[in-house]
Amino acid sequence: MTSPLEALLDQRDWLLADGATGTNLFNMGLGAGDPPEFWNTEKPDNILKLYQGSVDAGSDLFLTNSFGGNAARLKLHNAQNRARELSRVSAELGREVADKTDRTIIVAGSVGPTGEIMAPMGSLTHELAVEIFHEQAEGLKEGGVDVLWVETISAPEEYAAAAEAFALADMPWCGTMSFDTAGRTMMGVTSADLAAFVEKLPNPPLAYGANCGVGASDLLRTVQGFTAGGSERPIIAKGNAGIPKYHDGHIHYDGTPELMGEYAVLARNSGAKIIGGCCGTMPEHLRAMREALENTPKGSKPALEEITAKMGAFSSATDGTGDNEAAPTRQNRRRRT
Ligand SMILES: [Zn+2]
Repeated sequence: MTSPLEALLDQRDWLLADGATGTNLFNMGLGAGDPPEFWNTEKPDNILKLYQGSVDAGSDLFLTNSFGGNAARLKLHNAQNRARELSRVSAELGREVADKTDRTIIVAGSVGPTGEIMAPMGSLTHELAVEIFHEQAEGLKEGGVDVLWVETISAPEEYAAAAEAFALADMPWCGTMSFDTAGRTMMGVTSADLAAFVEKLPNPPLAYGANCGVGASDLLRTVQGFTAGGSERPIIAKGNAGIPKYHDGHIHYDGTPELMGEYAVLARNSGAKIIGGCCGTMPEHLRAMREALENTPKGSKPALEEITAKMGAFSSATDGTGDNEAAPTRQNRRRRT
């Protein structure tokens, strides 16, 4: 049976995902150290408002408020026994919003990292990681998500553990990594590495890609890295709204709605099919992104110079794949074999 996201991906050339969860909830008064997942039961109206904000702005898909809803993360708040419940409720609230909308809205069950380092470098075993992700996956499934969605991952071992857990839950899934360290993830994974890695998983994702990281420019370069090797699997681009800047003791994202509209078009032209925002992306940004995607025909892949001219400089000279130092000839470049 075709899952709702697969069906929508077949029908459409692009999908608009959602924006920030954290930034939106902080604006509603969530404290900096508070677990957002507690609001699923304590302040469900705020979570409904968060979801509705994305839908009203034109998103085709939104992520549930369950990013930190695995037992390893909830343990920091002494709530490790609530992983399944908080994840289920995040999904039920999502279902409520999606089902009363008169177009297809995909509810994607957000699964964030465990926050622990996996063996052999760290102490979290593969078996335990699978168990942690599986518990959350079952909660999200019970709550009615259409698809599971692991995000902000930096280690391939953790990505693979989530994939295995999602197979146990018998659910389709998507997965993004965060390329925040000179084009690579914190654990050294490049865009080319992830593109190759997903194809080797026994249950590959419906779509894969990048979220968060540094700025929108870097993220677009990463998207081009996914497609450079000929990857044909749908690609996800969820970049931050501009560059994070410290301002009066908090992090502020400088991207305007107009800039994010440009970003959305560049992301599609770079090869992304599911396009959304991450930190700092508010409904007004999503609205501009939807409008830009609807009103701009798909163009050719932008050169890196066009990306930096429109979106600002990259945070590092290369994306870490080692083959794009000679940026001016990028269009003709060949991959090293
Ligand atoms: Zn982010």
